Amino acid sequence: MAVEAKIAELEGGIGAMCTSSGQAASLLSLLNILKYGDSFISTSQIYGGTVNLFAFTLKKMGIECIFVDAHASDEEILAAFKPDTKAVFGETLANPSLDVLDIERFAKIAHSKGVPLIIDNTFATPILCRPIEYGADIVIHSTSKYMDGHALQVGGVIVDSGNFDWTNGNFPDFTQPDESYHGISYTETYGKMAYILKARMQLMRDFGTYPSAHSAFLLNLGLETLAIRMKQYCENALKVAQYFKNSEKIESVTYPGLEGDSNYPLAQKYLKGASGVISVNIKGGKKNAIKFMDSLKLASNVVHVADIRTCVLHPASATHRQLTDEQLVAHKDKRFAYKVFCRA
Ligand SMILES: *Cc1c(COP(=O)(O)O)cnc(C)c1O
Repeated sequence: MAVEAKIAELEGGIGAMCTSSGQAASLLSLLNILKYGDSFISTSQIYGGTVNLFAFTLKKMGIECIFVDAHASDEEILAAFKPDTKAVFGETLANPSLDVLDIERFAKIAHSKGVPLIIDNTFATPILCRPIEYGADIVIHSTSKYMDGHALQVGGVIVDSGNFDWTNGNFPDFTQPDESYHGISYTETYGKMAYILKARMQLMRDFGTYPSAHSAFLLNLGLETLAIRMKQYCENALKVAQYFKNSEKIESVTYPGLEGDSNYPLAQKYLKGASGVISVNIKGGKKNAIKFMDSLKLASNVVHVADIRTCVLHPASATHRQLTDEQLVAHKDKRFAYKVFCRA
């Protein structure tokens, strides 16, 4: 509870609920709003595990995810809405494409349709961006990444801004009596806290996806150094990205903090730094890329991201190997991109 209060304050929300993983946070953030037969919109620039959850597992549960490109026009995004579309989802700084979401634009679109915007703020953390200030209604995190920062625990969190009006007619589960909880109406009983308390009272009770006390303890230790770690990750990564940009052995480098990067203007608007994650394409294809990874002295070749160690990862053969070629291409053709995660 102390950790939840701390994260709610960091994000500028009115309440938070910790979960056993980031995956659980994504799942519960949506299940708290959607039921069988509903749909929601998500940008396609999201974490591979979330793509699977949205495109396959939720589909089997009768909930449809409509994918849109994060850079699609307002008209294209509005055209993707169906009568039963109940939420919009995106990542501030996408894992692994490093696209920066125009949060204000997506919030405006979602609100024009009377539905909330949910933002996965894992890579940015509230130190670099506070999505609620740009209109996001719900913010979620995988705390397994920067927030913990030491790869010691797996966890997630859902933060409620308290700003969304659940009584607008689109969300009867918030206003009607809940048979499973003494017939209470969440909006009548809890007002602005309706979303986060409903998540705890219904979903945490039913699914049991809560963190262990020890995980919460470890997460709290990580949070105590988050602000200084983020500053250092950003400084180090910018130097490394600039080095890559000037190297003849590199085909391309993606880092939204680099001037000239296609996401640089959005990063300037939304981020106080572009985090410690850099994506590079090495000349000479896979062979040279493997040689590059094997030659590194300080970096570890591990699947984890965003902790105090410098690590490299080949998403297409590791974290994102479940995606089809088309989906990998949708991730901005970064199939052979190698990620470098800079340490603080
Ligand atoms: C890792 C990650 C997740 C999933 O989190 P887990 O804690 O591994 O379940 C969700 N979103 C993003 C952006 C991530 O990087």
